[in-house]
Amino acid sequence: MKPFPRAEISSSALQNNLAVLRQQASRSQVMAVVKANGYGHGLLNVANCLHTADGFGLARLEEALELRAGGVKARLLLLEGFFRSTDLPLLVAHDIDTVVHHESQIEMLELATLSKPVTVWLKVDSGMHRLGVTPEQFTQVYARLMACDNVAKPIHLMTHFACADEPENHYTQVQMRTFNQLTADLPGFRTLANSAGALYWPKSQGDWIRPGIALYGVSPVTGDCGANHGLIPAMNLVSRLIAVRDHKAGQPVGYGCYWTAKQDTRLGVVAIGYGDGYPRNAPEGTPVWVNGRRVPIVGRVSMDMLTVDLGADATDLVGDEALLWGAALPVEEVAEHIGTIAYELVTKLTPRVAVCLA
Ligand code: PLP
Repeated sequence: MKPFPRAEISSSALQNNLAVLRQQASRSQVMAVVKANGYGHGLLNVANCLHTADGFGLARLEEALELRAGGVKARLLLLEGFFRSTDLPLLVAHDIDTVVHHESQIEMLELATLSKPVTVWLKVDSGMHRLGVTPEQFTQVYARLMACDNVAKPIHLMTHFACADEPENHYTQVQMRTFNQLTADLPGFRTLANSAGALYWPKSQGDWIRPGIALYGVSPVTGDCGANHGLIPAMNLVSRLIAVRDHKAGQPVGYGCYWTAKQDTRLGVVAIGYGDGYPRNAPEGTPVWVNGRRVPIVGRVSMDMLTVDLGADATDLVGDEALLWGAALPVEEVAEHIGTIAYELVTKLTPRVAVCLA
C-alpha cells in the first residue's frame, strides 16, 4: 500500500536534469549538490540515481560518510569544509575532499599527522562575504597551503555567487572577474557555478559546475520554471483527501475561523500539515492539485491537515489523491504563493513524509 503523505522521487527526472546540465555546460564536470538529504529527495537515493555524476557536493562530513557507507565511489566535496582536527583522518580514510575557507582550518592542516595529504578546494570570497579568503589574503594563504605537506597538490579553487539567480544583476560578472584575476594562471580545478551560474552565466561554468536545485527540476530564478530549461520536477509531494464535506455560506473553517465561505461549497480535507513540513503560513489561495485541477487552500494549515475549496459541484471522493507540488503543479509556483523559495519547501519536509523512489 502506498504511504500518505509521500514524496515520490523520479529517477528518470533526476537523470534527465543531469543530462540537461551536462548539455548546458559540456566542457565542465558535474558535482551534483546533494546536501540536506538530497534537497529533501533522499541523500543515497539521489546519489544512486545520479551515479553518472562526476562528484557530489555535501555540506557536512556526516553526509559524506553516509554516501561512502552506501557504496558511493565518486569524488565527494565538503562545501562547508571541516571544523575539528579529528575530522582530518576521516577525510583521508574515506577519500573526501574539503573546502578550506578559514585560517583555523589551515592551522589544523599544518599541525596534523596524516597518512596521506587531503584534497583541498580553496574558497575565494569574490563578493558574497560569507565564506572564503579575501582577494587581499589570497596570495599568502595559497602559499601557506602550497607549503603544507598535508595538502594534496594541485590545490583546487572555488568561489560562490551571491546573485547569480538574478540574470540582470551584473554583480555576478564582478565576482567572476575577481575570481578569474586571482586564479587564472594557477593549476588545479576551478569552480564557480551553482545552478543559476550553469543555466544563466555560461562564462562561469569552469572545470566543474556545482548544481543543486536544477538537478531536482527546479529553476533557481524567481518567476522562472524548470520546464523552461527542459528540467523535470523530481519530486511529487502527494497526500489524499480524508474528508469531503458540504460547507454552508457564512461558515468558517479551521483554527481561528479566519476564512469564511462566501457561498455554499464543498471542502476537501487533505492529510498533510506543518507536522509534515508543509508551511503553516501558506495563505488562502495557495494551489493544490486535485483530480486534474488547481483548488485553493482555505483556512489555516494545521499540524496534520489542510483544507481546500473543491467548489460546489465537486465530485471528488474521500481517498482521492492531492498533489501539493510536482509535475502538474510546479513547486516554484507554490513557493511564490507562500512567499518563500522552492529550496525551502523541498528541504523542510519532515521524516513523517515517506520518500519513495518512483
Ligand atoms: N555550491 C555551494 C557552495 C552551495 O552552497 C550550493 C547550495 O547552496 C550550491 C553550490 C548549489 O546551489 P544551487 O542549489 O542554487 O544550485
